[in-house]
Amino acid sequence: MNSKKIEPGSLIWLRLDLRLADNPALDAAANLGGAAIPVFIHAPDEEAPWPPGGASKWWLHQSLKSLDAQLRTMGSQLIIRRGPTLETLWALLKETGATAVFWNRRYEPAVIARDARVKEALRGDGVKVESFNAALLNEPWTIRNKSDRPFQVFTPFWKQCLNEADPAKPLPAPIKLAAPAHWPKSIALDELRLAPKINWAGGLRAAWQPGEAGAAEQLEKFLTAAFDDYSAQRNRPDAVGTSRLSPHLHSGEISPRQIWHGVKTMAAKRGLPTAVWRNSQFLAEVGWREFAHHLLFHFPHTPGEPLRPQFKNFPWREDAALLRAWRTGRTGYPIVDAGMRELWTTGWMHNRVRMIVASFLVKDLLLPWSDGARWFWDTLVDADLPSNTLGWQWTAGCGADAAPYFRIFNPTTQGEKFDPNGDYVRRWCPELARLPAEWIHRPQTGPADILRAAGVDPGRTYPQPIVDHAAARAVALAAFARIKTSA
Ligand SMILES: Cc1cc2nc3c(=O)[nH]c(=O)nc-3n(C[C@H](O)[C@H](O)[C@H](O)COP(=O)(O)OP(=O)(O)OC[C@H]3O[C@@H](n4cnc5c(N)ncnc54)[C@H](O)[C@@H]3O)c2cc1C
Repeated sequence: MNSKKIEPGSLIWLRLDLRLADNPALDAAANLGGAAIPVFIHAPDEEAPWPPGGASKWWLHQSLKSLDAQLRTMGSQLIIRRGPTLETLWALLKETGATAVFWNRRYEPAVIARDARVKEALRGDGVKVESFNAALLNEPWTIRNKSDRPFQVFTPFWKQCLNEADPAKPLPAPIKLAAPAHWPKSIALDELRLAPKINWAGGLRAAWQPGEAGAAEQLEKFLTAAFDDYSAQRNRPDAVGTSRLSPHLHSGEISPRQIWHGVKTMAAKRGLPTAVWRNSQFLAEVGWREFAHHLLFHFPHTPGEPLRPQFKNFPWREDAALLRAWRTGRTGYPIVDAGMRELWTTGWMHNRVRMIVASFLVKDLLLPWSDGARWFWDTLVDADLPSNTLGWQWTAGCGADAAPYFRIFNPTTQGEKFDPNGDYVRRWCPELARLPAEWIHRPQTGPADILRAAGVDPGRTYPQPIVDHAAARAVALAAFARIKTSA
């Protein structure tokens, strides 16, 4: 055989679909015949104004490393290049003689625009191009309300999704990916400099196992140990009551189809009726992720602007000191501080606490929801444009199906309700760890002898509240009334 011979084949352009199983683009390449060459192209500028943040980049590094290791066990490997994407794909097609490019779709506005441009240019050049759905149960344009418009309320949206047949069964991982006679050059993963320069990744490393195997293990663990109690436990940050699948879902190490069928298989083994597992609270939460994608697709301006236009005139404050106190977990409200420190240390925060800290930022501090969204974007390992946008606009009251603006969480009573023994606060605010449960969510009001015995000196060892909640609530309600009357 002529060792210089170049076989025709295909490129699999991998993005947020970093898995071998249930990966339609990979499957299409494996079935086409010829070499199938997995490619990752680093082009963060093309995702502006939302290129991956610090914690996402850390995750991406680990996930790419894990995928490359998996590919190598099959005699394949991941080719890593830097963008621009179109020029890089053209170069790779030329170098390898491949005649097709396959990828799985993404739904962020900048990415949709880039992908459309790439698709048109490659097809114009006679390259076979195909894209697939690998990230959603239903793509955003397939679910419409009775007036043939996109949904803006979750409950009817999810009801309509549940009316659809079960999603297709997940594809198995390909048994083989044919290697080219010569692998094109790849840069080393380290050259992408995705790992953070400052040393905060220790907490991320301790908390997570990025990669497809870690994702599958996490799903299995959740279905075995926590699925049954999910409705009762999902609001408790002091318990491990949720799946913690969000970063795996965001990076595409697991698909919602695999989750759906994982739940279905577990239910069949245990004789759970169809109506029970299909209508489960857990799948409904996966449904919120679908809803977030639906909204972002149909309202692509929402990462930067409120869906409800009257909120454009909201009198947000600018206050760097308050923002810094919130970011660093020094607000004097223990549940808020615990959440912000959990986020900084592990790159994740419990959903109930996300709602509490977000409400505190926008309603107690009157700082713009977009400041919060940006901080989450940089620090969350699951930072996801659809879900982050939905979560922040929901909390601020300016999005679809949002919490009414006048519903203002009281951070003290929220802490007492959802972390009744104070275990969550004790874990993340060790300076309060010796306080009894009765005072842990309101340390500044504790009796002097109890504070002394616990080593808590408000204003010195732990901050005084940076705002008075009752007063802040009144100011927020007045501001809200002003935009309502001006709308
Ligand atoms: C202000 C704010 C910002 C948020 N930003 C993000 C974000 O950037 N990325 C992100 O994935 N989630 C975000 N969420 C949603 C939610 O907090 C996380 O998805 C959830 O905490 C992840 O934990 P889990 O995997 O254990 O969830 P589980 O409770 O086990 O739920 C299973 C899956 O359903 C999806 N899901 C659950 N709740 C929601 C929700 N409210 N909205 C959308 N999807 C949901 C997630 O993919 C999750 O992994 C945000 C919520 C708020 C209030």
